[in-house]
Amino acid sequence: MGVPGNPPPPGLAETELFAVDAYRTEFDATVTDVDREGGRVALARTAFYPMGGGQPSDTGTIQTPEGTLTVTGVRRERGTIWHTVEGDLPDVGVEAQGAIDWDRRHRLMRTHTALHVLCGVIWADYSIPVTGGNMEPMKGRLDFPFPAMSADLGATVERRINEEIAKAHEIVVDFLPRSIADTDPALIRTSANLIPQEIDPLRVIDIVGLDRQADGGTHVLSTAEVGGVRVVGTESKGKDNKRIRIEVVGSSGGDEG
Ligand SMILES: [Zn+2]
Repeated sequence: MGVPGNPPPPGLAETELFAVDAYRTEFDATVTDVDREGGRVALARTAFYPMGGGQPSDTGTIQTPEGTLTVTGVRRERGTIWHTVEGDLPDVGVEAQGAIDWDRRHRLMRTHTALHVLCGVIWADYSIPVTGGNMEPMKGRLDFPFPAMSADLGATVERRINEEIAKAHEIVVDFLPRSIADTDPALIRTSANLIPQEIDPLRVIDIVGLDRQADGGTHVLSTAEVGGVRVVGTESKGKDNKRIRIEVVGSSGGDEG
């Protein structure tokens, strides 16, 4: 399905399942490490997204021979992805089955994609790059260094976002060699060239024809799957910093849940 991007680097598809297939909800994996004090486990591979890039971590369950663990948070720490859990901790080496809370994850995928559409619209219409942001399921915010903000900016931006969503732009996960990524104007404008050179290839989320940025998060396959967006606030956060808040509304083209 979709336009093929460059393949992921060796090993990633076998370890960080969320990075190559955002629609993977269940997986088997060996427990590779247990932090008894911290109440957390590491797995040989995982579909749980670790918090990062403004996207919160996934929740869900991990089934082990000792019973069901509830995953309350996931974090990457010096290369290891740790799942913070409630329940009886398993031993290293046992086989476990993970399942992410898909409802919540899919809402985050729609929200994350909506924020990229917002980035793309602001760049296309005003040539202003994004400087920061955050999200939770179905709502998010981004900051832009607008020198001034017109009273009807919110309404204008909302109309433009929904126009682009309706075009059903395809979304491709690409793994671009740095030699190519570092000369890509869209990636330079989102400061991807500042990412350490050891990160090669660079994972790029391409909303084909609208927005390209280096990104570790999970996104839907088409902008149509976002549903709709409402701009619920525009605020001035200092002289050259304007914050735009959005909510994702409506049902998703890809999932009527
Ligand atoms: Zn992103």
